Order: sequence, then C-alpha cells, then structure tokens
Amino acid sequence: MNTLPSSPKVVLSRRKFLGNALAGTAATLAGSASMSFFGTQPALAQSNLTPDEALKELLDGNQRYIAGRFMSFDEDKQILRDRTVEKQQPFAALLSCADSRVPVEIIFDQSIGELFVTRVAGNIATPEIIASLEYGAAVLGTKVILVLGHAGCGAVKAAIQAKAVPGQISALFPHLQPAVDQAGSDLAAATKVNATIQAGLLGKASPVLAPMVKEGKLKIVAGYYDLATGKVTLV
Ligand SMILES: [Zn+2]
Repeated sequence: MNTLPSSPKVVLSRRKFLGNALAGTAATLAGSASMSFFGTQPALAQSNLTPDEALKELLDGNQRYIAGRFMSFDEDKQILRDRTVEKQQPFAALLSCADSRVPVEIIFDQSIGELFVTRVAGNIATPEIIASLEYGAAVLGTKVILVLGHAGCGAVKAAIQAKAVPGQISALFPHLQPAVDQAGSDLAAATKVNATIQAGLLGKASPVLAPMVKEGKLKIVAGYYDLATGKVTLV
C-alpha cells in the first residue's frame, strides 16, 4: 500500500481512527467501519522495510523510551488486536534475557504485532531459540534480529562465579562460558561479548538465517541495555 508511511510506527489512536473514518465515504461510515477500513490494509506497514530501516526503527523506539515520548501507549490496542488476529508481520526479532528489568516492547516503544521476542536467561542461542528465530525470519519476515544483553545480568554473573547452583540453572553455563573465557570476570564486558557470540552463532550455525544474512535480507546484531539510562547500544 503506497499510501502507508515508511515507518511501521503508525499511531492508531482512537481519535485518528475516527478521523480517518470520518474522512472516508458515507458507505464506510454506514457499514462496519472498523472491519471495512482495516480489511483493506496489511496488518502492519513494515513489509517494505530493509534490515537497516528495521534496526533504525528499533533504536528510534529506544530513543522515544529514553525521552519518555511513547507512541505505543497511544495506539488503540483493540484495533491492533483486530488487525493481527489473522496474521502477524513483526518487523524485528529479539533474543533477550528473561530479566524483569528488560521489558522488550516497552524499551523499544513497540506494541502488538511488531516484535517477535524470544527470551531466556543469559540471552543464549539454544536450539529452541534458534528454531524460533528461524521461524520469525523465514516465515514471518522479520528483517533484523537483535541479541540483547543487559547490565547486571544475573545469568552471566553466575557463570563468571561458577558456583554450585540448584536445579538446572547450571545448564546455562556452557553457553555463557565462551564469553567468560574471552572477557574474564568483568560483568559488563562478558555480557557484551556474550551478546556478540550469540549473534554470531545465529548468523553462522543456522542454515536458514545464514543465507538470509548473506543475501542482505536479514541483519543480526548484538546490543547492550543499560538499566540506569534505558539506552540500548549496539556492540
Ligand atoms: Zn540477564
């Protein structure tokens, strides 16, 4: 739809929706307005984004979050739900830590149907995570995968300390050990190296993702989230 803006961040406030409906034809107003209006639109507008544009949209969203100028909270969630019942077209995928202080949609100022999010402690590329991200890229069309480490990561810290831990927590450690070997006991350094290593694994180990990266259809990057400032920095 060439009338759609290049950015996927289309503000769908109730007011704007009503404004659009009122600007439409009498038939639109007389009929089931929401269905007929959105029935002609793709679920989201990101399908033409390049990997670089998708990454920019993520980082722009993080800037809005830092500045407290949220757009996603103004969007009408019922309209977004309606538009994504039949299909999803998330423009970006995330591999982030499970940490409660890294709420992915909020820190990138995104909403329903925009991000394909995988989360596991230490943001590690396990087979199940890779499978999920392959699905996101190959089937749903995500243009960028951001592997996001964060300040104060308990999983990386535990791997550095290598103490005995209960249950299956130690199952995380082998995935994190290469970063610890490389960066030593500096938590921030090890976390950044880990994000880079996991991003590298995705780009090399997956027979689905690797060719997409090679052909320029997909970008895989690593980032670091600062808990104190809210800023995401690519590493
Ligand atoms: Zn963490």
